[in-house]
Amino acid sequence: MTAELSRTATIARDLIRFPSVNWGAGRSDGEAEAAGYLEAALQALGLETHSFEPAPGRVSVVARVEGRNRGPGLVLHGHTDVVPADAANWTVDPFGGEIRDGLLWGRGAVDMKDMDAMMLASLEDILSSGRQPNRDLTVAFFADEEAGGVLGAHWVVDHHPELFAGATEAISEVGGYSIDLAGRRAYLLQTGEKALVWAKLTARGPASHGSRLIRDNAVTKLAEAVARIGRKDWPIRLTETTRSLVDELGRLLGLDPKQVGEDAVVLASGTASGFILATLRTTTNPTVLEAGYKHNVIPDTASALIDIRTLPGEEEAVLAELRELIGPDIEIETIHTDIGLENPFQGPLVEKVVALLGEHDPGAPVLPYLMSGGTDNKSLAQLGITGYGFAPLQLPADLNFPAMFHGVDERVPLASLDFGTKVLTDLLLGY
Ligand SMILES: [Zn+2]
Repeated sequence: MTAELSRTATIARDLIRFPSVNWGAGRSDGEAEAAGYLEAALQALGLETHSFEPAPGRVSVVARVEGRNRGPGLVLHGHTDVVPADAANWTVDPFGGEIRDGLLWGRGAVDMKDMDAMMLASLEDILSSGRQPNRDLTVAFFADEEAGGVLGAHWVVDHHPELFAGATEAISEVGGYSIDLAGRRAYLLQTGEKALVWAKLTARGPASHGSRLIRDNAVTKLAEAVARIGRKDWPIRLTETTRSLVDELGRLLGLDPKQVGEDAVVLASGTASGFILATLRTTTNPTVLEAGYKHNVIPDTASALIDIRTLPGEEEAVLAELRELIGPDIEIETIHTDIGLENPFQGPLVEKVVALLGEHDPGAPVLPYLMSGGTDNKSLAQLGITGYGFAPLQLPADLNFPAMFHGVDERVPLASLDFGTKVLTDLLLGY
C-alpha cells in the first residue's frame, strides 16, 4: 500500500524501526543502530564522519560539510534517542514504522526522527546533485537528548568543540511547525527554552511497625510536600519572547490580553496552547514517588522526583521558594540542571526563516515562542552558538501536534515531511 515513499519518509520510517529507547538514569537500549544508519548515509555522500561512544551503545555522529561561502557556520542537529512507548496503549506497533492514512506512525515520528530524516534528505538532495550548502555546516546526530544529553550533545561539545569551530547558529527540533489559529495557519519559531532543574525530595522518619502511632511518618511528610509542590500555582511572568507571542496571538485572534488575561489568549489558540501555556510561568511537576517495601512496615525514607522548568534565569529563586514551601524537614537535592535560553526574534537567520515560510506558505505569519522543554541547543550554547527550533512542518489543522510529543500514537503526515525537506533544503542553499 506504500506505493512510493519519499526519501524523507523512507529515512524516518527506517529510523523509527530502530528502538533507540532512552529510559533515563543512564539506562538505554542504545542509539548505535540508528547512528550507524545515519553515519553510513553521510559517508555515502562522501562526507568524513566522526562517531563517539562515551558509554556502550550511546553513539553520536558528527560530520562537517563545506559551504560555498566561508563565514559563520551553521549547526544542524538532531537526536536519535526516543522516550519509551507502551505498545499496549498504541493503535500500531510503536517501532513498526507503519504508514496509515497518509501518516507515518511510530515513536520518534515527531520527536525527532522526522527532523533527522529531513536533515539527511536535504543534504542528500543538495550534495548528490553536485551543489553545496551556502554556509559551512556541522551536522550532528546526538545520543541521549531525552536524558539531558549527558552522553550525547554535552559530551561531544565538551570533548570535541573543534567540530563546531566557526559555527555561530544552530537549528534543531520543536519549532517551525504550523498551528491553527481559528482557521488561520501560523508558524511557531522556537527562539528560547525554559531552564530545567530535576530535583529529588527526601523525607526521613523512624522505621516502625505499621500498627504503631507514628506522627513523624516519612511517607506522610513526603506526600504533603509533593502535594504542595504539585498544586503550586506559579504566577504568570512574561519574558520578551512570550510577551511578543501573546500580543501577536491576541492580535490574530482578536483578543486583548490586558482585558481577557494571557491564559485566555493562549487557550484560544487551540491545540497550540499545549505548547504555550507552560511557557508563561514556572512549572513544578512531581513525576516519580518511591517509598516502602511491605504493607505493615513504615519505611524510614520516602523520596520523590520533581521536574522543575523555570523561566530562563529563575532557577535559584524557584528553588528557594520551594524550600520555603516544603519546610526544613524535607531534604531537596538537585540531580540535574540545565540553562534556559532566550534568543532574539530578529537577525539574518530569523529573517531568512520567515521569508522562506512566506514563500512556501504565503500569508502564514511566523511567531516566536519559548519552549517549555529543552533541547540540545542548551549544550551548543556553551560554545556561544545561538540555537533555534526550526524543524519546519506544515500540519493539518486537526492534528493535535503538541499531544504527539512523548504521546501515544505519535505520527506525522507524509506531506509534512516533504514540505519540511523542501524548506530546509532552501534554507541550507540560501542562508
Ligand atoms: Zn526531542
